[in-house]
Amino acid sequence: MKPISENQKYTGACLCGAVIFKLNLKKIKMMYRCYCSLCRKQSGATSNASTFVQTELFQWQQGAQLIRTYVKDTGFNSSFCTQCGSPVPNALGINPKVMWIPLGLIQEDFSPELELNFCVNSKVSWAETHQKITEFDELPNMVELKKYFEMNS
Ligand SMILES: [Zn+2]
Ligand SMILES: [Zn+2]
Repeated sequence: MKPISENQKYTGACLCGAVIFKLNLKKIKMMYRCYCSLCRKQSGATSNASTFVQTELFQWQQGAQLIRTYVKDTGFNSSFCTQCGSPVPNALGINPKVMWIPLGLIQEDFSPELELNFCVNSKVSWAETHQKITEFDELPNMVELKKYFEMNS
């Protein structure tokens, strides 16, 4: 285990909380979204939302033994918590000195200075629906949700 310095700023956890990690970073300056078909399936959304962190600044806190990695025949891989299915960090195949971090697991709020967008040629049309957005401050209640349950019938 690496020593924890006072730089430590970010913690990440999967959905069930069994896998926990720390980023020994002052600031997450960069994030990226990838719109390719693989990242779409891996994230279940229009794109993933991720970043890269130097492996030496990354530390597993618990649950690393619960992680499994699916490797496609092309080499694309996806690591996940076997208890809850959350995507979890993994070392880049092309450069193991860099960890891939799925940002949705980070517990603290932050505002990256830079957002990169990859594979925009593969972006699905429903990635751009801003003019149709209806916002709710929190999860809508059952009465508000009722009409949306029936909308896709
Ligand atoms: Zn989990
Ligand atoms: Zn991708």
